[in-house]
Amino acid sequence: MKPAPFDYIRIDSAEEACALLAEHGDDARILAGGQSLVTVLNMRLAQPARLLDISRTAPLDYVRIDGGRLVVGAAATQASVEWRAGLSTEVPLLGHAFPYISHFQVRNRGTVCGSVAHADPSAELPLCLALLGGEVVLRSRRGRRVLPAGDFFQGMLTTARQDDELVEEVRYPLAAPGWGYAFEEFSARHGDFAIVACAAAVGADEIRLGVGGVADRPRVLRLPRLEGEALAAALNDFAWELEARDDPHASARYRRHLVRRLGLRAIEDAGRRAGAT
Ligand SMILES: Cc1cc2nc3c(=O)[nH]c(=O)nc-3n(C[C@H](O)[C@H](O)[C@H](O)COP(=O)(O)OP(=O)(O)OC[C@H]3O[C@@H](n4cnc5c(N)ncnc54)[C@H](O)[C@@H]3O)c2cc1C
Repeated sequence: MKPAPFDYIRIDSAEEACALLAEHGDDARILAGGQSLVTVLNMRLAQPARLLDISRTAPLDYVRIDGGRLVVGAAATQASVEWRAGLSTEVPLLGHAFPYISHFQVRNRGTVCGSVAHADPSAELPLCLALLGGEVVLRSRRGRRVLPAGDFFQGMLTTARQDDELVEEVRYPLAAPGWGYAFEEFSARHGDFAIVACAAAVGADEIRLGVGGVADRPRVLRLPRLEGEALAAALNDFAWELEARDDPHASARYRRHLVRRLGLRAIEDAGRRAGAT
């Protein structure tokens, strides 16, 4: 299918995007990398009258370190973060996660903020943001607000973003000294969306495990440094809490199995890396 007709508007600044979003609300959509939106348009799941293309909006194309965070502007592609020379020490979790996101052609066009705004429950970048306790900066003509990832993601493809708001930037906390990070995922083929994805961060006294692909949004479990049967029991409880459902890709039972297995593997890898730092 082809999309319904729309007006195409090339955006030069965040101010211009916010002015048009304020004027047209849900009838205008931000076009970033187009890697999710174009499919939605082609299937006519959305029929906005205007597309606001920010993919070449220079003031929004930045990736920088600021205040202990990696800050990624709305026009910055996934590849521009993935290929940062310092990424493996700045936010090592992202370095582990990027290879699981589709293929490099998609990451060359797709943006980090677009993935966060789209909020697919299987997507890797929202999961990393939730696990690390990152932030989303929303901007509109009314001003800016900064939301913790845990408040931003509200459900399947649903966020706290209002129709007149631009996701201006997202902020990933830098690696904390003494912590290790790991990412594990199972999908039908390499590059497909995750059936289950697990991100782990392990410090001296704490384990954090994030799971994508099971609940309607990324979910994060915080534990003390449990081991052996106590850890296995905690992972089993968490796997049940996520209320997995059967779908054509996997049964709920298989998803729970993956949470237990991949979760444990990610925690063990992150724990080894924590020991090595
Ligand atoms: C073949 C294929 C395989 C893929 N596999 C994976 C995968 O394994 N894992 C994964 O995570 N993703 C995958 N993706 C999706 C990809 O990562 C997308 O790039 C990403 O989800 C959306 O980013 P985008 O910049 O392309 O956003 P777009 O497609 O342009 O926009 C997506 C949505 O977010 C909104 N939006 C975008 N930017 C903003 C903003 N700054 N402010 C407000 N709203 C905004 C748009 O209006 C739209 O509703 C895949 C895509 C394809 C085509």
